[in-house]
Amino acid sequence: MTKVYLSLGSNIGKRKFYLEEAIRLLNGLPNVNVTKVSSYYETPAWGNTDQNDFLNLCCELETNLQAQDLLNHCQSIEKKLGRVRHEHWGPRTIDIDILLFGDALINEDNLKVPHPYMLERAFVMVPLLDIAPNLSVSGKPISEIIKSLDCSDIQKIDVASVR
Ligand code: AMP
Repeated sequence: MTKVYLSLGSNIGKRKFYLEEAIRLLNGLPNVNVTKVSSYYETPAWGNTDQNDFLNLCCELETNLQAQDLLNHCQSIEKKLGRVRHEHWGPRTIDIDILLFGDALINEDNLKVPHPYMLERAFVMVPLLDIAPNLSVSGKPISEIIKSLDCSDIQKIDVASVR
């Protein structure tokens, strides 16, 4: 079994619904068991700032799928939940990124792991710290990495109060 960390985000429509549905669909995949889900965080859009705030979370899962197979499944879930690709860093119903796949270092055209931007994105690292406080990436504890990030606009959300 490989322990995997994913980052999920949504900034269109029923954001909470898309995130919950994505977790449900991930957990329903063959040979996938979702073992932890972080709190939900609201974060300003990154890259292209002229769009709705994102709702973000991280989850941990265990799987004996290969990384490419898991990526395919994640992309099918994105499609199923109606993500339409209009623009890079544009609005999306659901975005699923593979952050870490066990200790694997993957550098393929369609899959880079550890995710190349994870360490610089507070909206990834804050929820990740929730579910994996003792995790290290490339030998560095994430609890240390996060100290160098501006996390001031990453807000923990009471999910009962959001769409
Ligand atoms: P995005 O628009 O940020 O969702 O990027 C999606 C593209 O990134 C897809 O074409 C994936 O093949 C590629 N990609 C590369 N590395 C990863 C990763 N670690 N997790 C998810 N997608 C990835």
